[in-house]
Amino acid sequence: MLIHKHSLSEVYYEVVLMENPTRDLTKFGNRELKIAGQLLQQYAENSTNFLTHGVEVWFNMNSGYVFLSDEEYNVGVLNRNCTKIIQFYSCPECGKEGTEEDDIICINCGYCKEHCQCKIVND
Ligand SMILES: [Zn+2]
Ligand SMILES: [Zn+2]
Repeated sequence: MLIHKHSLSEVYYEVVLMENPTRDLTKFGNRELKIAGQLLQQYAENSTNFLTHGVEVWFNMNSGYVFLSDEEYNVGVLNRNCTKIIQFYSCPECGKEGTEEDDIICINCGYCKEHCQCKIVND
């Protein structure tokens, strides 16, 4: 996979948003419309402070993800229990994607655990 060194949000933009996402609700199926409704409900009820301005609902027809994205391409998805919105990360180094529920991503730096930038140790 072709991944350049970009900010986290730009990588996500390349990897996911460029793969044919839509904001057109007529392209959402019933399942996706319900997820979008749950996203909006959680967005109304709970703070999602990683999402700032220009927040929109998107559906990616390739991945099946329904998500919120702000103008800086921060991305929020529903957690497994649909009780809150959690941030979706994509490792800038290798493109691995996940949330705090996946044990793939270090949520402190947004890189995957293998490429975590939090403790750079000199050998
Ligand atoms: Zn990585
Ligand atoms: Zn880290």
